[in-house]
Amino acid sequence: MADLSPRFAFNERLRLASENKTVICYGETGEAVRLLQQSLIELGYWMDKSLQKFNTPDGIFGSETLDRVRAFQTGHGLYPDGKVGHKTLEKLSELLPNMGPILPPLPKKASFKHRVKLHFRSLVLTDLPISFQEANARMTYAKYGIYLDVRSGMSMNLSEDDRKKFESVDVGECVDNKLTEELGSLHKIGLQGVAENEIVIYFAKDVTDETNSKINGCAAINTSRPAVVVAWDASPWTLGHELGHVLLGNFTPGHSTDTANLMYAPSADITNNPPDLTVDQLKAIRASKYISPF
Ligand SMILES: [Zn+2]
Repeated sequence: MADLSPRFAFNERLRLASENKTVICYGETGEAVRLLQQSLIELGYWMDKSLQKFNTPDGIFGSETLDRVRAFQTGHGLYPDGKVGHKTLEKLSELLPNMGPILPPLPKKASFKHRVKLHFRSLVLTDLPISFQEANARMTYAKYGIYLDVRSGMSMNLSEDDRKKFESVDVGECVDNKLTEELGSLHKIGLQGVAENEIVIYFAKDVTDETNSKINGCAAINTSRPAVVVAWDASPWTLGHELGHVLLGNFTPGHSTDTANLMYAPSADITNNPPDLTVDQLKAIRASKYISPF
């Protein structure tokens, strides 16, 4: 068979499954299942239930995982038996040939203390791998007991004109933390159904600054309702970083000089997986009006 992707090859259990020695199926639990869940999520097979407890895949091959494995198999011309063996792993390896994110160890029990309510709005995108950024952001905040509670998503009903207009979102000099006219008009539509203490995150095809250069994302915080925009192909930590700006509010310094910190800029150069937050940053974040008890 084609080589097993490095994201699977280091796991003994997955190697056995790929040789069809013993397939992975309903009822199995453990690290191999987590790696499969994470991979399916990255490919767009979202798993709400399996993420709910720990904010990272729970490693339980239950009915949700079974459903997603079958959907994946059906979508890729495989027989949908819901069992992960040679063929399913071969297809997954082909689609995800690189090392994936390193999953944090599963906590002994769920230990969330806080929650932040988010609404995802996707612009002009159809099937792009947003869940990779989402999984990373979840992991980052989960480390500190903060649960990212996604209340609604994903696509936005735009008119044909708006669709063209928001193909690329101009956020101007994001350093000012203010809404550009374009972001302002987008926000008017995007805020529908979003409560005062909840945050909207826009996923755009392109995000551009005042010089029309592509950037990863921006958080306009000095507005009555903050707006977060993230490019779909941004760095693994962009979503968490921009969300950090909103939660930190006017905390200074807004950016850290420590490359291990979530608030290091550019976020593409962050070295820790998942990134850290300092005690002071956490204090400010926990005091944010966007944070509520879990
Ligand atoms: Zn920043």
